[in-house]
Amino acid sequence: IVEIQNISKCFGSNRVLEDVSFTVKKGSVVAIIGQSGSGKSTALRCIDRLETVDSGHIRVCGHEVTGASLDLHQLRRDVGIVFQSYNLFPHLTVQENIMLAPRLVQKVNKATARERALAVLAQVGLSEKADMYPSQLSGGQQQRVAIARSLAMQPQLMLFDEVTSALDPQLTGEVLRVMEKLAADGMTMILVTHEMAFARKVADEVIFMHKGRVWEQGPPSILDTPATTELRDFVGNGL
Ligand code: ATP
Ligand code: MG
Repeated sequence: IVEIQNISKCFGSNRVLEDVSFTVKKGSVVAIIGQSGSGKSTALRCIDRLETVDSGHIRVCGHEVTGASLDLHQLRRDVGIVFQSYNLFPHLTVQENIMLAPRLVQKVNKATARERALAVLAQVGLSEKADMYPSQLSGGQQQRVAIARSLAMQPQLMLFDEVTSALDPQLTGEVLRVMEKLAADGMTMILVTHEMAFARKVADEVIFMHKGRVWEQGPPSILDTPATTELRDFVGNGL
């Protein structure tokens, strides 16, 4: 469902991605790990065309992301992305926040949008919060609403960039459980995470990025038996 071939990217003279390649199969979960500045977020953003690449090819859900004739609307429809900050609209209720994109982008009618909103809220365990405002929710609950909002677009692929790093441990657990359930339900997911225990448990494949390159990749067991000193040091830091 995702094919990334030899992508490179510079910001000015700073080479951020160098010859990065990996693929993601439908229904699988890929965890991207690595030190700060290793290019994890940039790689994720390239998949959703929030960044462009200098060279290489990206194909996502049948879309040629690096092609000249990309339909950005269709791509964004098929790919949901959730960041560390939730960016909910404070003046809209939880349900209204979730209904917004299906209404405006997909032009679904109000009843359908409402039905969908309630379904995805149930999925993230927040059915009872539909009529609350974001400020009335905890950070973890707001992040789960942000995930629900993405799910309401019925994406084929979900991207998560350190969605729990602003949360305290208990709230982190709530959000990780939602993501674990999503994975169990067969959602294809790519997640950048510092939660090594979660990566071990949920990921089918782990990608360790270092200095803009895919340094090691394989099943979570590579974390137990690193082939390179870089990954050994990274895991050893207790991250
Ligand atoms: P972290 O774990 O801290 O989130 P990361 O692995 O996600 O790090 P990136 O955000 O991909 O790292 O950044 C990789 C490099 O690209 C860094 O050196 C960063 O300074 C640089 N960079 C990222 N975005 C931009 C930008 N918009 N303009 C210029 N440089 C950027
Ligand atoms: Mg990042």
